[in-house]
Amino acid sequence: MTTDGPNRGGRRGPSRTLVLPQTLSVKHLSELVDQSPVDVIKQLMRNGIMVSMNQVINHEVAALVTAAYGIRTRVAEPVAEKGALVGAAIRSGNGFEEDTALALRPPVVTILGHVDHGKTSLLDSIRNAHVADREIGGITQHIGAYQVDYQDQKITFLDTPGHEAFTSIRSRGARVTDIAVLVVAADDGIMPQTEEAIDHARAAEVPIVVAINKMDLPGADPERVKRQLSQHNLLVEDWGGDIISVPVSARTGEGIDDLLENLLVVAEIAELKANPTSPASGVIIEAKLDRKRGPTATVLVQSGTLGVGDYVVAGTSWGRVKAITNDRGRIVKEVVPGAPAELLGFGSLPEAGDLMAVLPTERMARSIVHDRERLKSTQQSQVRALTLEEVVKQIDAGDIKELNLVLKADVQGSVEAVRQSLERLTDAEARVRILHAGSGNVTESDVLLASASNAIIVAFSVGEEMGVERVADRMGVEIRHYGIIYQLIDDVEQALHGMLEPTFTDVILGQAEVREIFPSRRNVKIAGCRVIEGRIVRGAAIRVMREGKTLEETGINSLRHFRDEVNEITNGMDCGILLTDFNDFELGDILQAHRQERSQR
Ligand code: GDP
Repeated sequence: MTTDGPNRGGRRGPSRTLVLPQTLSVKHLSELVDQSPVDVIKQLMRNGIMVSMNQVINHEVAALVTAAYGIRTRVAEPVAEKGALVGAAIRSGNGFEEDTALALRPPVVTILGHVDHGKTSLLDSIRNAHVADREIGGITQHIGAYQVDYQDQKITFLDTPGHEAFTSIRSRGARVTDIAVLVVAADDGIMPQTEEAIDHARAAEVPIVVAINKMDLPGADPERVKRQLSQHNLLVEDWGGDIISVPVSARTGEGIDDLLENLLVVAEIAELKANPTSPASGVIIEAKLDRKRGPTATVLVQSGTLGVGDYVVAGTSWGRVKAITNDRGRIVKEVVPGAPAELLGFGSLPEAGDLMAVLPTERMARSIVHDRERLKSTQQSQVRALTLEEVVKQIDAGDIKELNLVLKADVQGSVEAVRQSLERLTDAEARVRILHAGSGNVTESDVLLASASNAIIVAFSVGEEMGVERVADRMGVEIRHYGIIYQLIDDVEQALHGMLEPTFTDVILGQAEVREIFPSRRNVKIAGCRVIEGRIVRGAAIRVMREGKTLEETGINSLRHFRDEVNEITNGMDCGILLTDFNDFELGDILQAHRQERSQR
């Protein structure tokens, strides 16, 4: 599979439909959509569905994954009726059928760039020039996305600019953006967030069009911007490359039409198509609770046509569409692919980035939401970081040929040093792909990028920004910290060659002193203790110590606070401890709770 170039990320040709069997294994599905099983499992996890590679899922669940990859699907007839035929079709080919029902759809564009370079102004300027609703009574509504008409064609713009929003939606499993417009202020040039934006667009394999903004300013220097772009491997056309760059001014409106025209050219090359006749699917762009109207959600329809009365599911919300408003504040009956609209009818608030699907009956909508909720509550705790060792095991298993990394280091000099050493590790078997490298602490945007691209974050001599560790935990992203370059390189190298064993350190959680001994049943004694340091946790291992020496290594059978069985007792509190296989307590014994934790170097 080619990984560079626009829109290649495993998408099939746009003119075909994948025929999904009624049921299939996760592995089979991953082959059909040309993605690694890990990617598919992650997609399902984002929908609250926990499965293993060989587990069999039904076609509805599979369709959640295919929708995320922008692949149109149809379900095969039940095996009993047409089994032999369908089976043969899927075995012989790649599962796709030609489709003549596909029609061109508008491109969806996101605007990225450094703060204050004019992203919002550009969005406003485009909207004012081309949406100014000439019909009486039309009002421009901000619903999270809007469409412009240009030369009888439509272009959809997402109204939340910036790579954080872009990658955040992507990390939820949705592919929304077809083209990224990179705004660079002509008087300022490429800045740190411009670099981040470039990396985020690249990681998403979305084509970039550069808008060199603020051309009205006397200090505008577009040539300098082009030179800087070339240093980031973005060669614009007059530098002999194929990146389109358009000089614009959001203030005067100069170049805006030229930009739109170029977006249409890029869209035409990408041949963006969707079937307007199938049941709709799309992505939630925004959702809010309206005091009078209840939950409202802006959806971008990606395939099919959404109509009033449809049963919709998004994440763990479902509902029946009561009313649809378009981006110009008009009540409409339906929404076609590529268009945004605000829906009324969800029973609860879906989340931005949730995939939306239409289901044939209320019962199915309810039951999918019910299943997702159940899985979410029972298995939430199992969503955890894909560690470096695990990622690499998959490399060994042939599932991933690339190790994606996000690299953060203290100063630019060490960023470059580490980057070069890491890139040298690429060999015939595996490739190190650095999605983003930058100086400074690990940020939320780094975590989003890593999550959206199955990457590990390696941090050299830097920490995390506030709250980032929690986000990483929640999103299942591993951040590995290093203070010595060669250890970082060594770990990644060993990992690539499958030799990295996790190292563990023994962490002492707390200590309790035995102050009373209660006989319980025959030969069984309970130690009445006071916690004198840290905490005693039920799942922890216990070391019984007497006069500084370890007598026994064992575990906790029962941990009580008065009569109640508890999970944890903290410093200063009394408790009763019953150990597994140890009863010979003496007053003054110390029970030390400890645990093996994975350590990093
Ligand atoms: P964002 O942070 O990228 O969304 O940037 P804004 O759209 O908020 O713009 C930042 C500042 O630059 C504002 O004061 C704008 O008025 C100004 N600005 C944006 N575009 C232009 C432009 O084309 N020319 C000039 N002179 N100023 C601009």
